Amino acid sequence: MVLTGNCMCGAVGWTYSGDTTRNLVCHCVDCQRATSSPLTAFLGMRREHLNWTGDVVHYESSPGTFRGFCPTCGTRLYFRSGRWPSEVHVHAATMTDPGEYQPDAQVFIGARMKWLDRLRSLPNHQGFQQAPQDSADTP
Ligand SMILES: [Zn+2]
Ligand SMILES: [Zn+2]
Repeated sequence: MVLTGNCMCGAVGWTYSGDTTRNLVCHCVDCQRATSSPLTAFLGMRREHLNWTGDVVHYESSPGTFRGFCPTCGTRLYFRSGRWPSEVHVHAATMTDPGEYQPDAQVFIGARMKWLDRLRSLPNHQGFQQAPQDSADTP
């Protein structure tokens, strides 16, 4: 299996060949904060089969744990930790086709945002709920 992905601006890309080691949706509070999102999803990859193009910088979110991101557009790219030294956990939303992602487990479920349960009952819109205002008024 060959997987590819990129950041929002395209300055960073990745290519992986081989089987993924895990396919996890993570609800932990560190991922919520780091991604500014209620949850994130990871593909576990073996380091030696993962290749990057472009520059990636990282933030050490706890001792020995690094969260990589594109320095140009800020897209979160990976989590890696000394606790799993042979793996890199790449954010599934950076896949070339994120719709292909197949999660098989959820972790840190105790931190799952309660409001996720309400999503199915909320009104749905194909685009914005309200038409955007004149762009001259917005920053
Ligand atoms: Zn970028
Ligand atoms: Zn997490």
